[in-house]
Amino acid sequence: MIGDGMGTAAVNAYRVWAENPAVKGIEPLRLDRHLVGAVATESWGATCETIMDCIVQPYAVTDSSASATAYATGRDTLNGMVAQGPDGERFETVLERAARLGKGTGVVSTSQVTHASPASFVAHVPSRRQYAEIADQFYENRVNGQPVAQVILGGGTRDFRREDRDLVQAFVDEAGYTLVEDLDGLLDADDERLLGLFAPVGLPRHWDRPDSVPTLADMTRKAIEVLSRNERGFFLMVEGSQIDWAAHGNDIAGVVSEMEGFADAVDVALDFAAVGGDTLVVITADHETGGLSLGRSGAYEWNPEPLRGLMATPAYMVEAFVAGSDSLDTVLAAQAPFDLSEAERANLAMVEREPRAAYEALNEVLDHRTHSGWTTMGHTGVDVPLYASGPGSASFRGLHQNEKVGQLLMQAVSP
Ligand SMILES: [Zn+2]
Repeated sequence: MIGDGMGTAAVNAYRVWAENPAVKGIEPLRLDRHLVGAVATESWGATCETIMDCIVQPYAVTDSSASATAYATGRDTLNGMVAQGPDGERFETVLERAARLGKGTGVVSTSQVTHASPASFVAHVPSRRQYAEIADQFYENRVNGQPVAQVILGGGTRDFRREDRDLVQAFVDEAGYTLVEDLDGLLDADDERLLGLFAPVGLPRHWDRPDSVPTLADMTRKAIEVLSRNERGFFLMVEGSQIDWAAHGNDIAGVVSEMEGFADAVDVALDFAAVGGDTLVVITADHETGGLSLGRSGAYEWNPEPLRGLMATPAYMVEAFVAGSDSLDTVLAAQAPFDLSEAERANLAMVEREPRAAYEALNEVLDHRTHSGWTTMGHTGVDVPLYASGPGSASFRGLHQNEKVGQLLMQAVSP
């Protein structure tokens, strides 16, 4: 399970937000009990031309495809590359190996399933931006004549139903997949091969979802239900993709929203693993995003209160603002659990009806009220937390390079 962009501060923010204020002290998350170590997420830099150059470069900050490749294959690659080396060598993924061993296989994400992290378990391309090519490989990458991933749940209709090719129809008509496109369809589905596409690109944020869109926990539950029928076991990759997207926007409400969705999915996996006792659950992040800090500008405090009772994230409010006629202060006031100050109202009332400016203005209000700090709109190179539970979890203890985690996963699925 990958919390994309989930640094220690994101987990920390969610823990403080989620705790019960009526109980003294901060209750640990379910996740916290399984903390076993940390991952150093360094990858090869994107600018080096030869492998030797890459290896001797100073500490490079990874992107999601290089880091997911490390987890999926146990091998380092350049930023931007998906489960292959700079020379084009295809790296076997842990999901492919599981399929070859007759196990169940699945990927679940809140991004389009063609996005860097899920793609790195299923496809092999030189650039993560080759979305159409990646979607094609979901269909064409075969083991024993069948598409390598048996259960595929997330967003991405845009890439699967294209003008030049309708992969959805091919999955259903040729490969015997059941297509589901909303929560009811997902809950009803009881088939061995499942393609669930719930949005053209990424799913709406966890707090912003209409009831028809499944949560990451809903998708994880169904994937486990289907895959766990396989007597040889299964490999499932679950990604909380938009912790990263929110952090790229320095959007603390979005981070907490997506952390909640991811933590709920973690609970589903741990609940399942607790019953049989024979499932290894590994949870980590591919890298930290945003340089998030709890406390900023000298304040010795991080305040979750403005985020509690928030009815929607800034991403949703921006859409409402751009499509509507209300000023931005009115839009925020309708969703926020606090009264806006005169200064906040005046600032927001001046914001142009333009997505970027509106998003930044809303995030600034919430950053100041919560005392959340950020150092970048990109990724950082800090270590990320590593959690493991179940058989073989002891080998994950300590500090690992990201490719080492992939090697341990390979060992775990191998006989
Ligand atoms: Zn990112």
